[in-house]
Amino acid sequence: MPTLRRMPALFLGHGSPMNVLENNRYTQTWRRLGEQLPRPQAILAISAHWYTRGTRVTAMVQPPTVHDFHGFPRALHETVYPAPGSPRLARRISELLAPQTPVVLDDDWGLDHGSWSLLLAMYPQADIPVVQLSIDGTLPVSGHLELGRKLAVLRDEGVLIVASGNVVHNLQLASWSDPLRVYPWAQAFNDFVKDNLRWRGAAGQHPLANYLLAEGGALACPTPEHFLPLLYTLGAWEGTEPVTLPVEGIEMGSLSMLSVQVGG
Ligand code: ZN
Repeated sequence: MPTLRRMPALFLGHGSPMNVLENNRYTQTWRRLGEQLPRPQAILAISAHWYTRGTRVTAMVQPPTVHDFHGFPRALHETVYPAPGSPRLARRISELLAPQTPVVLDDDWGLDHGSWSLLLAMYPQADIPVVQLSIDGTLPVSGHLELGRKLAVLRDEGVLIVASGNVVHNLQLASWSDPLRVYPWAQAFNDFVKDNLRWRGAAGQHPLANYLLAEGGALACPTPEHFLPLLYTLGAWEGTEPVTLPVEGIEMGSLSMLSVQVGG
């Protein structure tokens, strides 16, 4: 068997579903990544929008496109991302996380917009199998970092990890009238995240596993689900590879599009 090149792992800020219909520096980054990264054999997507009790993984042959939003233009509701699934990768993930973390092989969800809005830009042909992993809301924060560490080996099996959320995500306080405004607490928390991407040690001690204690943490992450996907990507970091930021920016005061790549 030929030796596979180790795949990078990504965390991408996804922002509004409207990015699907727009051409901006974020969508341009997603397209560029799809063109420039080594072509994966399969993709493991981890989206803020599948927040569950227990860990689940899509195991269907053809995962449906989930339109988990309302009131957007019809073109967006009609967009589909018909990438195949990979029951084999789903079983591999379940094996890797067992026995500590029982994984439910799911045939109910699919690819939600936290996954497909990015993948459509990265791989518009939709010809690479995609499996989506849910975020278990009952785990301690460090538990997500630990799952990322266990899944890191997939990078050597041709799997591209694409986690997506937004490290600052407070839509309640979003500055709709002045989109260029950046709240100081949002900037402070975003900087805290950037300063701690390369921290290595026991998962429970990781500064990002204790993010609510950081300046701006409670305002930046009023709920955890958009923050947690980053921990899967950082968990997949082997500790010496480069950690880079493909794109960053804070939109509407309180929506960080910070994106992180581990590995080349
Ligand atoms: Zn979202």
